[in-house]
Amino acid sequence: MHIFVDFLQNNFSYYLLLVFLIGLVVGSFLNVVITRLPLMLERGWKKECCELLKIDKNEANEERTFNLVYPPSHCPFCGYKIKISENIPLLSYFLLKGKCKNCKKNISIRYPIIEIISALSVCFIAFIFGVSIQAFFAIVLTWALIALSAIDFEKWYLPDDITLPLLWLGILINTFNIFSDINSSVFGAIFGYGILWSVYFVFKLATGKIAMGHGDFKLLAVFGAWFGWQNLAPIMIFSAVIGIIVALTLIINKSYDKNKGIPFGPYLAFSGWISMILSPYLISSYLNLVA
Ligand SMILES: [Zn+2]
Repeated sequence: MHIFVDFLQNNFSYYLLLVFLIGLVVGSFLNVVITRLPLMLERGWKKECCELLKIDKNEANEERTFNLVYPPSHCPFCGYKIKISENIPLLSYFLLKGKCKNCKKNISIRYPIIEIISALSVCFIAFIFGVSIQAFFAIVLTWALIALSAIDFEKWYLPDDITLPLLWLGILINTFNIFSDINSSVFGAIFGYGILWSVYFVFKLATGKIAMGHGDFKLLAVFGAWFGWQNLAPIMIFSAVIGIIVALTLIINKSYDKNKGIPFGPYLAFSGWISMILSPYLISSYLNLVA
């Protein structure tokens, strides 16, 4: 292990290439999570509702096994089973010209986009954090944020199955001071949740409307837990600014739905990610300032 780490440190471009390739492969898996996790959750919720209301589950196909690995990858239109040779991240999409080999229907452009975002963003993290334990955890967080953002864009919620484990992981790693000290981490988690919950509560009292979802509170709690309470204000301000810019752009293009609003999760996720990248620089510039 030690020899491998030494090798990567001495051959930085190999390290970046390795991370890029892993990023592509994991990006391909993230597509599976983004597509299937919401379906799995919705199935579970329906089942619970039926049990609670004592309604017979009449949809027989709901009983079939469905999870992240089963059934194997297939075309959503014709059911064509995708071979491993046709499932190479990024490359296969272009070789197949974005169409199913069997029925020629278009494959969603989301697949290659997620793969390339995953590869480039973790490569960037590797470049910034070097060969380090911080890089490892920052990459894990990056992948989780990509999945969360894409699910929020498509389904308008941030699944607890991703946000809550991230929250615990943030507190756990900071008991070893990976990104922050443990006190800042615990206060960050509490304040992160509490601040957005208060905004939500006051807005609801004042207007009777719901401005954001509970998933957003949990996501800000995640950033508090990972990077400490000190990062909460910049993250909130930055995400609000992006959210306003996006909403204004949609209003100008007349594609803004006033009743629907916009999902806040992706902007929050992006702001948190940026603050993770900038925080080492901010801390060193603070230190320089003090020195
Ligand atoms: Zn097909």
